[in-house]
Formats: sequence, C-alpha cells, structure tokens
Amino acid sequence: MAGEGTTRRELAVLAGAATLAALADGVVRPRPAAARLWRGMAREMIQLNANENPYGPSAAARAAMTAAQEVASRYPGDLEEELRAVLAARHGVGEDQIVLGCGSGEILRMADMAFLGDGRSVVVAEPTFEAVLAYAGVARGEPIRVPLDGEHRHDLAAMARACDARTGLVYVCNPNNPTGTVVTTTALAAFLAKVPPATVVLLDEAYLDFVEDEACGTLIARLAAHPNLIVVRTFSKVYGLAGMRLGYAVAAPDKSAALRRHATTNNANAAVLAAALASLAEPDLVASVRTRMNDTRRALCAELARDGRRFIEPHANFVMIGLGSDVAPVIAAFRERKILVGRKFPSMPTWLRVSVGTPEEMAAFLRALREIVPAAGAAAA
Ligand code: PMP
Repeated sequence: MAGEGTTRRELAVLAGAATLAALADGVVRPRPAAARLWRGMAREMIQLNANENPYGPSAAARAAMTAAQEVASRYPGDLEEELRAVLAARHGVGEDQIVLGCGSGEILRMADMAFLGDGRSVVVAEPTFEAVLAYAGVARGEPIRVPLDGEHRHDLAAMARACDARTGLVYVCNPNNPTGTVVTTTALAAFLAKVPPATVVLLDEAYLDFVEDEACGTLIARLAAHPNLIVVRTFSKVYGLAGMRLGYAVAAPDKSAALRRHATTNNANAAVLAAALASLAEPDLVASVRTRMNDTRRALCAELARDGRRFIEPHANFVMIGLGSDVAPVIAAFRERKILVGRKFPSMPTWLRVSVGTPEEMAAFLRALREIVPAAGAAAA
C-alpha cells in the first residue's frame, strides 16, 4: 500500500536526496536543482575560498527561516526593531546605536559613503579585506595603504601616524582577512587614543567570534569613550548565514545616523531577521561552532607543521600558508581537483589562503596540497 514508503519517497523528492544526506551528516550540500540556479558555480566543488561556515545555520535558525514564509508578504519593520533591541541589549548600547546592513559589506559601504569624499583619505592595512577600498573608489576616497608588520599583523602605530586631518576613515580588520592575525584590545585602545577624533575608526570584527585569545576582545565597550569608533559585525561567519545577508554596526548615535542615511530601507529580509533572532537565542551556538571549527583548524595546522610548511598562526576560520612560489598556478591546480581555495592577494603573491571546512574537506585539501606542492621538509609518514 501507499503507506510509509510513499511518504518517504515524496519527502525525498521534495527535499532532495542530497539534502537528506546532508542533514544526516550535518553538512549543507545544495541539491542539484538549486546548484543549477547558482550561476554555474559547480556545487560539487569543495568550497574553501570564502571563509564560510560549512555547517550552515543552526537548526533553530533553519526553522525560523521556514516559518518566516508566513510573513513573507509583510515588510519586515517589526522584526528589524526586535533584532535591533536584542542586539542593543546584548552589547549594552541603545537601540539607536545599531544599524543593520545587507551583510556587513553594506555597512562598510555606508561608512565609505558617509565619511569619505571631499578629498578625504581612507587608511587601510595591506593586505586586508578589500571591500572598504572597493567602495571607497565609488565614494572617491583616496586610499593610503600601510603594510602589515613583520608578523603579518596590523601595524597600528604606523596606521595612526598615517592619519591626518584629511583622513575620513581608518579601517582595522580584527582578525585580519587574509592573514588571520589579531591585535590585542590593549593595542587597539592605545591606537584609538592616537587617531584624530575627527577620523572614524571602522573596526571590522567579522571573525572575532573565532578568537580564543582573551587578550583580543571586542571594542564595543569602548564606544562610549570613543565616539569616532564604529564596530562592524556579521551573521555570515560563525552563524552560517552568508547566503542570507545580514550584518550590523554598533556606533555612537550620531555615527549610526550618518551610516543609516546611506542604507536602503528594509535592507534586511524577514527570513534572515528571524534566523538571526533564533540564533542569538541559542546560548551555546557561538562557542560550539568556534570549538568545532577551531579544532578542525588545529588538526590542519598540525599536518602543515608535520609537512614542515610555513603558515601564519591563525585566529579565524582560515589559514594563510606560505608556498614560496607564485600561488596562481596552485589555485588553478586545486580548481582542477574540484577544490576552491582563496584568491591571490597581490601583496602576498606566494601565500595560499584556505578556509576551514569540515574535517573531510580538509583531508581532501591536504591530499591535493601534497600532490600539487610536495612538502620539502615533510616528516617521514
Ligand atoms: N568583513 C570581512 C573581514 C570579510 O572577510 C567579509 C566577507 N568575507 C565581510 C566583512 C563581508 O561579509 P558579509 O557582507 O557577508 O557580512
């Protein structure tokens, strides 16, 4: 009879066999129909190129997104307000100090639009996450690049010296993308004391949830003392919601208002707002993702060390590996093996950035790396 068997078959058709398998092993692999929709990106590729969370959103966040269909026909103003209230309470600031963005990328763009132009410069580390400069081009900000220090960290003293009366923005990414290095809270506090008060310090904490070093924390508590500080956060990384697009800024009320003038109305959709609220209500989510992904990263680094490879001590969900020769052909060779790794960073052309995936994905990455760039100093296996 058409009993349980049919129901299961129907379910399999509805959900897709791959999705069911993914649910079983906790890894999200979009089913083929969805893959076709995603513009030729071959989804059977192992994606270690964008510093995402391979496990995807939490079960509660997934349920919240599904339930959000019920309110899909309504503008999401109430959910926005609710999320801003929850974030404000969590960070101990006023609701007028939270600005939502369509990803934290939109916040970076708002900052460029609000604080550059009129010949004002933007000071950034080199290399760092490029979006601020990309958008600064649009906002006609003059870029001033300050090389990282000898340990691939932000050279905060040199960045402070590079700020003058014309500097609209100084961008600090902590941990830094692509190097994965961190600067301490104390070093950042000293930096804030040196930057001219008319210069806005844009502090990108996209990867801070992965940091275990207690000397490196959020600067949100310093907002009251430094009204020129804007802290940027995202739901794309530890919360596993990169595809849904949600980030936010925490800033003094006047800076928040200046950012908001450049935001699109209702820039966060109902589904991601619901997912964010559900995620924030889970007390252990951040810690459990951090432990899971950092454990995988530690295992990867142990293998890299065993092979005698050079890498920068990582503090986020990616690792920068020194290859000693141009990384471009290596990236291409990985692609041939259906593995996507980070792009080439022009000022670090011999370094390969690999994002932390699942243990199985890292095993595939290591196998390929050993084929493509045999380890000279490898210990006998
Ligand atoms: N900041 C940093 C440092 C990033 O690496 C990224 C994306 N990789 C972003 C911001 C933007 O992320 P999103 O727009 O998804 O929040």
